[in-house]
Amino acid sequence: KKIVIAIDGFSSTGKSTVAKLLAKKLNYIYVDTGAMYRAVTYFALENEYIGEGFFKEEELVGRLKEITITFKLNEDLGFAEVYLNGKNIESDIRTLKVSKYVSPVATLSEVRRKLVEQQQLMGKDKGIVMDGRDIGTVVFPEAELKIFMTASAETRAKRRYKELLDRGHELSYDDVLENVTTRDHIDSTREDSPLIKADDAVEIDNSHLTIEEQLETIVDMAEE
Ligand code: C5P
Repeated sequence: KKIVIAIDGFSSTGKSTVAKLLAKKLNYIYVDTGAMYRAVTYFALENEYIGEGFFKEEELVGRLKEITITFKLNEDLGFAEVYLNGKNIESDIRTLKVSKYVSPVATLSEVRRKLVEQQQLMGKDKGIVMDGRDIGTVVFPEAELKIFMTASAETRAKRRYKELLDRGHELSYDDVLENVTTRDHIDSTREDSPLIKADDAVEIDNSHLTIEEQLETIVDMAEE
């Protein structure tokens, strides 16, 4: 029987790595909801609705209807890439610049309402692994399996730093650490759908776990 698996947690806990492998193993669909918030942020940056010291919230909200986010499987990569109005923006949304502005954008209720609605549609037939911040609490409160991933801030910043370096970005470790902790703070303290562990979520601290160990733990729970 196919179920919904919700994976929530702080930034750079390795949620998406595990979620992707989990979906592959169970033959489920994987949805990266962070990519959707990043896509809206990319749109806001392109249109100069947000930037250093300014955020034209109403103007962004006024144009939300013009934003269409889709996912399309990239056979070579083995996972779906995100598209904004038909344009592949998968690598454009992984920059530190988008990471810097995504949490303020994600505080807007109108943005959340739009994306949550789309996420619920994508998961209506179950057989889905969805990762984010509010999946087990807001998007799928009835999910059969909920995981809450944690790891120390340093572990997370090191992982994200390495990932960004591997992608060829030039940046400092301190900037990455600062981004991760700032985002976690905004995400946990915002009014609409703050990042909190659902009562019935299983917490996994993966600071000292390999990906295989995490995967095995979650697959066992999914098959119970
Ligand atoms: O998962 P990722 O780090 O790509 O998410 C980027 C940002 O998008 C998060 O820091 C958070 O502000 C926002 N987000 C959210 N709700 C989700 C997924 C992401 O608010 N379900």
